[in-house]
Amino acid sequence: MHSPMKFVVATLALAGTGLPLAAQTASDPLVRTEGLRQISPRVHIIPDNSVPAVPNVGYIVGESAVLVVDTGMGPRNGAAVYEVAKKLAGAKALYLVTTHIHPEHDLGAQAFPDTTKLIRSTDQLKDIAESGLRLAKIFASRSALNAELLKDADFRKADITFEREYELDLGGVSAKLAAMGPNHTVGDTIIWIESDRVLFSGDIAMRPQPVFASPHSSRRQWLASLDELEALKPTIIVPSHGPTGDGTTFISGYRAYLIEIRDRTDAEKKAGRTADQAVEAVTAAFGDRAPDKGRLAGAIRSAYAEAP
Ligand SMILES: [Zn+2]
Repeated sequence: MHSPMKFVVATLALAGTGLPLAAQTASDPLVRTEGLRQISPRVHIIPDNSVPAVPNVGYIVGESAVLVVDTGMGPRNGAAVYEVAKKLAGAKALYLVTTHIHPEHDLGAQAFPDTTKLIRSTDQLKDIAESGLRLAKIFASRSALNAELLKDADFRKADITFEREYELDLGGVSAKLAAMGPNHTVGDTIIWIESDRVLFSGDIAMRPQPVFASPHSSRRQWLASLDELEALKPTIIVPSHGPTGDGTTFISGYRAYLIEIRDRTDAEKKAGRTADQAVEAVTAAFGDRAPDKGRLAGAIRSAYAEAP
């Protein structure tokens, strides 16, 4: 049974009138700009408060330009993230990069003015060409608010593209962007602020369990990426989602998890088990240590495909 309230909300959203503020709850996928805080001399973030479908948003503030990391889901979130950028940047130039093309990271870009320069890796372009708005449609189907937020959302064209690495001079601070290959998605980008030793790790290293979101997601590539991230020796990791992390804790956590999956899955395959049997056995071995069984199964299947 649908409650009458739900019906009213859905009707409002369909009519495009938007939801009244009072109807919003802490679990709504909205970037809470009041949470803006400085985490290092040049870096500010808006934490996601671990709310699903909200990203940690980053601002790297130089003397001549500001780089924004991730937009929030849809133009309304993008506009809020832009307003904060304007306050931090004043008359300085604005650049925008997204850790990957999933809706809550990328589909607010169109709310930024034309003068903002969007930087994309060629892997992101490939990902957009291949998967397009598929995930946005799934997200939009989950709630009336999601549908409202993603109404008319579309990918913004890149102003600057790069293959593997791109260094952006913001004036007194530089941001190093790197395309990390197929990890969480086809086009995971990290942003490294060497002077502050702050790493925006995307979904490649976080506290929550890793998500193998793409058919191209690769356990092998992911482990190689973790080595690269660790070699940077970050002091603070700002992941795409969840709390920020001290040092390389998130990296070692992900590595231990993926290595255990690799070793257990390799053994299952070697013993002649099917992928389904491997999922069952490895999931049982993890028990409570991997609360998200769906995410775990995705990782095991990827590991199985790559097992010798
Ligand atoms: Zn994602």
